[in-house]
Amino acid sequence: MRKKIVAGNWKMNLDRNSALSLATEIKGMLADEYTGTAEVIIAPSFVFLGSLVQLLKGSTVSVAAQNCAAEKEGAFTGEVSADMLVSMGVTHVIIGHSERRSIFQETNSSLKEKVERAHEAGLKIIFCVGESLDNRESGNYIDVVRDQLSASLFSCKSVNPENTIIAYEPVWAIGTGKTASPDQVQEMHCEIRKMITQKYSHDLAEKFTILYGGSCNEKNASEIFGQADVDGGLIGGASLKSRSFVSIIKTYNR
Ligand code: PEP
Repeated sequence: MRKKIVAGNWKMNLDRNSALSLATEIKGMLADEYTGTAEVIIAPSFVFLGSLVQLLKGSTVSVAAQNCAAEKEGAFTGEVSADMLVSMGVTHVIIGHSERRSIFQETNSSLKEKVERAHEAGLKIIFCVGESLDNRESGNYIDVVRDQLSASLFSCKSVNPENTIIAYEPVWAIGTGKTASPDQVQEMHCEIRKMITQKYSHDLAEKFTILYGGSCNEKNASEIFGQADVDGGLIGGASLKSRSFVSIIKTYNR
């Protein structure tokens, strides 16, 4: 049975008080209401990581960063290294989110370095891939995702199902309210699993957790999570409301 995971990406939202309140609410609701076994991860802004690690200590919720540096240490003003994250008690990091790729020009080669640094430091990664609307409409969306994986994640040294979660996030569905259909999601997740089989082995491919992300909410989560190759979600907007986020997590109660 593959690990089921629901992760919330808070992006650059919330101030300190609202971040702490939201985390407190999620922690309380899960303790009171959740009997399922899905793993829960929250990715706040860097500046709230330390507070959230403390607040969530002893709970079932892990804390992720939204990014890390491609370099180990040194003169890189404004950057945050994977080792620094580990020293704060952070366990996961999101790498390759489409907003990092498109707004901050992160390339497959810099993402490869980030994956290496994160794994060397002992962080688990949530590695994002996904096609643009143009790619989807021109029909080459599977090739685009294959290229993203082979040019970065698949050329890293120590990728395995314990230290790597893959998130399929079609760019056209992120923050747009336009969710990929369950069939579209299943098609891509199945293709990603085949890509892992080709690179590693069928046995290993069966163990990788593959999340869906893109306008996932409490209304559509159960149909999407019900697809054979979907193992949970990376949730943006709907993770900023405790009730919505916990309802999505509860998809794995039923
Ligand atoms: C995301 O940014 O990872 C995401 C999935 O956002 P949203 O759920 O808001 O589409």
